[in-house]
Amino acid sequence: FKKKTYSVDEYVDGILEGNISILSQAVTLVESSKLEHQIIAQEIIEKCLPHSGNSVRIGLTGVPGAGKSTSIDAFGMHLLKDTDVKLAVLAIDPSSELSKGSILGDKTRMERLSVANNAFIRPSPSAGSLGGVARKTREIIILCEAAGFNRIIIETVGVGQSETAVHSMVDFFLLIQLAGTGDELQGIKRGIMEMADGIIINKADGDNIDKAKLAQAHFKNALHLFPMPESGWEPKVLLYSGYYEYGIKEIWDMIADYMTFTTQNGYFAHRRNEQSKFWMYETINEQLKSRFYNNSKVQSELKVYEQQVLSSQISSFAAAKKVLSLYFNE
Ligand code: GDP
Repeated sequence: FKKKTYSVDEYVDGILEGNISILSQAVTLVESSKLEHQIIAQEIIEKCLPHSGNSVRIGLTGVPGAGKSTSIDAFGMHLLKDTDVKLAVLAIDPSSELSKGSILGDKTRMERLSVANNAFIRPSPSAGSLGGVARKTREIIILCEAAGFNRIIIETVGVGQSETAVHSMVDFFLLIQLAGTGDELQGIKRGIMEMADGIIINKADGDNIDKAKLAQAHFKNALHLFPMPESGWEPKVLLYSGYYEYGIKEIWDMIADYMTFTTQNGYFAHRRNEQSKFWMYETINEQLKSRFYNNSKVQSELKVYEQQVLSSQISSFAAAKKVLSLYFNE
């Protein structure tokens, strides 16, 4: 069984018509590391670009077990009550390269959303470095927007560097936290909290409500210690339950308020421009690195110089210079 192959224009037309099967195949091309796929993918992206941008992009992070999939299912079903909404759920999980097959964006984790008409769920691209995975996700956002998806959620595990990548491609960054450990603030990296436009405390249900309220007070206090964000928006701390679906509407109202606030003060457009600039340089850096290390001369000489460095025949700097010149002076 061979899948039908399309021309670039057929891909673009299919995407613009909102054809999910063609969108999925185009996403597969973006994710592919084969050069011929990359060339087609780039042409498709270029042609979709003028039709992109018309969405609210939301980043969502939280440690495993915080309730990301439960919450996205609940948020998603809330959003889809509006029949004009089309929601794409994407993920960035650089570790999936190791685990082979991501748990983020796995359809079985979002039971209702995975069978909903206006939802598109896609796991993290699995190949490559964080930079590569993140760039591909950004390109997939463009394709989804061109296909008419006007709400995009990008999910990541709140444990490493990937939050920075997600932050650099979304309009609103949501951090899911849990109450109840008593030392809520210790486990959280300051940097992640500083990036958040909203902190939402999950599992505020049953016996947990008082602890959740306490955590809310802690987080509010902690946020006061940070300088005012560039957006001028003071991050909110809300309680909710993804499982029982309490407080879901309030979270989306917060995001809508943020959109109005930052559109009016110009920050929304500013942030998107800054992100475009950032991704231009990211792409340059990533392409330079991958072409350099894939260069045949570099590949054949790199280990030789490495050995010479290890046996003190040559300094690290001299070796680096020689290897670089193999590529740049060829
Ligand atoms: P993820 O790893 O961040 O995606 O977390 P999951 O969504 O898989 O949730 C982890 C566990 O917490 C599951 O057993 C959920 O049923 C439970 N859970 C998620 N949200 C809530 C909630 O709002 N209240 C309660 N009590 N449990 C929840």
